[in-house]
Amino acid sequence: MPRARNLFCLLLVLALVLNVPTFAWDNEGHMAVAYVAYQHLNTGTKARVNQLLRLNPDYSHWKAAVPSGTSAAKSKMLIFMMAATWPDYIKHKTGYSDDGIENGDRPDGATSSQNVGYSDHLHHKYWHFVDTPFSTDGTPLPSLPTPNVQTQITAFRAVLASNDPDAKKSYDLVWLEHLVGDIHQPLHAATRVSSADPQGDHGGNLVTLCSAPCKQELHAFWDDLLGTSSKASSAATVGRNLPTADATLATKTDAADWAAESFDAAEQTVYAAPVANGNGPFTLTPAYKTAAKKVARQRVALAGVRLANLLNDELQ
Ligand SMILES: [Zn+2]
Repeated sequence: MPRARNLFCLLLVLALVLNVPTFAWDNEGHMAVAYVAYQHLNTGTKARVNQLLRLNPDYSHWKAAVPSGTSAAKSKMLIFMMAATWPDYIKHKTGYSDDGIENGDRPDGATSSQNVGYSDHLHHKYWHFVDTPFSTDGTPLPSLPTPNVQTQITAFRAVLASNDPDAKKSYDLVWLEHLVGDIHQPLHAATRVSSADPQGDHGGNLVTLCSAPCKQELHAFWDDLLGTSSKASSAATVGRNLPTADATLATKTDAADWAAESFDAAEQTVYAAPVANGNGPFTLTPAYKTAAKKVARQRVALAGVRLANLLNDELQ
């Protein structure tokens, strides 16, 4: 039935074109953060994270994804890397659901900041960013919702340092692996407010890079900068070739500082020419793309070392 098959293919293509997720660094970027972190974990911390990750409900899937013949030591590293993608993975996992309001992007109610471990099947999409608003035309700034990525990093790291049960620490560990990456993505720490977008441009999600029906937008461009592979081995190659993180900046431990740096990078590099006022479309220049890639690689390298420092310092 070629006609039915053609229709199926068309629907599949439409689904892929229309469904543009907002993930903050694709899987490859998140796994590159974890790769860098793993190179800086001390021996005791490596053993502890391995013990905690075994408690994740998808541990067996990660293990199955490790190529056969991989050494035990490398397998543990690859699993640590895959774990960094779990908060995005559950967005499409059966049994997990949106919560909050505005398509799940805004917290609402007591469950928004609950920290109860793997029995929690809510997406908590608003944990992935802290969209600090700035205005280009004097439009008043909307309030900044909590909880957000900054408050959650603080909350989760406190649990790792506490006497709470390992099952809860495991949940908080995989979220931390992910969120330390997210907070270093400039468009997860800024939203541009204007008379056209009085609630902000959703971290660049409303800024288009081509004319309809093309769907490319600024947020996804930044998410993709480290690569779009979902293979841990590919992400390890990306991580291995990143620049060395600035040693002084790497010692900063306050998530508020990390968010502030990302906000500054958004103002200076993300919302820079040819990205002008309004929602576009804007055609990015080679010079813009080169500058963006440089900043993204520096942010991911820094996120990796900071994640390692956090785990070495806090994990009990
Ligand atoms: Zn995320």
